[in-house]
Amino acid sequence: MPLLDSVPIAALPLERFEPVIGGEAFHRLLERFARGRDLLGGHAMWHVNSTSRGGGVAEMLVSLLAYGRGAGIDERWEVIEGNEAFFAVTKRIHNNLHGAAGDGLPLDDEAREVYESVTLAAGEELAERIVPGDIVLLHDPQTVGMIPVLKRLGVPVVWRCHVGIDTPSAHTRAAWAFLRGYVLQADAYIFSRRQYVWEDLDPDRTVLIAPAIDVFSPKNQVLSDGQVDGILSAAGLQEGSRTFAVEPSFLRMDTSPGRVERRAEADEGRRLRPDDVVVLQISRWDRLKDPIGVIDGFVRHILPRSEAHLLYAGPSVDAISDDPEGKEVLEEAKARFAALPGEVQERLHLVTLPMVDVEENAAIVNALQRRAQVVVQKSIAEGFGLTVAEAMWKERPVVASRIGGIQDQIEDGRSGKLVGAQDLAAYGRAVVDLLTDPALAAEMGARARFRVRDAFLGTRSLLQYIALFERLVL
Ligand code: UDP
Repeated sequence: MPLLDSVPIAALPLERFEPVIGGEAFHRLLERFARGRDLLGGHAMWHVNSTSRGGGVAEMLVSLLAYGRGAGIDERWEVIEGNEAFFAVTKRIHNNLHGAAGDGLPLDDEAREVYESVTLAAGEELAERIVPGDIVLLHDPQTVGMIPVLKRLGVPVVWRCHVGIDTPSAHTRAAWAFLRGYVLQADAYIFSRRQYVWEDLDPDRTVLIAPAIDVFSPKNQVLSDGQVDGILSAAGLQEGSRTFAVEPSFLRMDTSPGRVERRAEADEGRRLRPDDVVVLQISRWDRLKDPIGVIDGFVRHILPRSEAHLLYAGPSVDAISDDPEGKEVLEEAKARFAALPGEVQERLHLVTLPMVDVEENAAIVNALQRRAQVVVQKSIAEGFGLTVAEAMWKERPVVASRIGGIQDQIEDGRSGKLVGAQDLAAYGRAVVDLLTDPALAAEMGARARFRVRDAFLGTRSLLQYIALFERLVL
């Protein structure tokens, strides 16, 4: 059974960035790409991660690789398939890296055996397809164990760590100890922020690249209010017309009867009405995203002081193979919902979004983010938090936890609001303040968009990647 599955990559034109970044910056971008392409000399750039959809890493790879390919670089994307035992260990590593105990089991010899049984074989599988001159970029803990095998080929191997924590715990250090031996063999390691760099790595091989969003992807591109309402009613999330007109090239959402009625089986709560005020969190079903805290904070501190509805949307749990905890966490959220009185349930909406069609999913996420009056991201740990930048680009006021990469995005009180990750009352207060002061909400939203334009566009991270590869190849 092959362990790697190839993901198709589209080719997108860099030209679309010209109006956003301006002619001069755009020409510099083209020049740098041309140089990078010449240096690669037709060789491939291989990326490996653990899922092609659902979650920030997949989200970024879709765009990053498509622009690379559009610029003539031979980008390849492989997903490590693994098995249940492997993903139980990698989820433990993921939770440990975030400072949490996870399933409470240790990263011992037995865990290493399970881990390496997949990573070494996946490394061998990839090694057969690589030729001298290619470059490999591995993403996140699931792929680290491939490094020793790939380094034997003599090609540059870079590891990108998308997770991190402000203050490492004993669990974090245990995960570092488990992975460090592999990581040290890479030619470079990329972290999202300075605070995330592990102890005892080689500073000369350490590179910082903050994540970015693709403002032209179906998830972020402009939608009219009519399209927002149409998409949400077609997805069964909002009452109203079930048909709407969208350009076929933009969104392949099938509006035929039957399909438009589809609403994921796990949904709790009634449909939104067009004039409902919406507070939104979109996140995977992961305890580090704190769905229970989001619900409890809303019920205690927002619901009694406003007319707002809370909509918590996450991916359909069957779709995400590398996240074994998703089902359990969704069940916890549903149980919390079920225990609430009927009139409270009226104002809560737990939604699982269909993931079969990536563009359709993206369109729904886009519409939800634009539909919301306030977006929240009340995570307990967050490497970066793409959902924050996505909402900011759409001029939403965001209330988010003062943790991880969220702090790099939101300038507190200016382009959004930061609150203590465990402080439900502060989260509630910040949301109610924005709901009751639409002028403040609009100002914050406008500044949020500028913040993303200035610091978190894909072009910035593309240039940083090119600079790194030039360094490795020259
Ligand atoms: N996302 C999605 N559908 C969902 C839930 C999340 O498309 O049902 C996307 C979300 O829009 C964002 C990414 O998944 O682009 C999540 O990235 P983030 O950095 O916020 O968190 P991660 O999941 O990587 O921890």
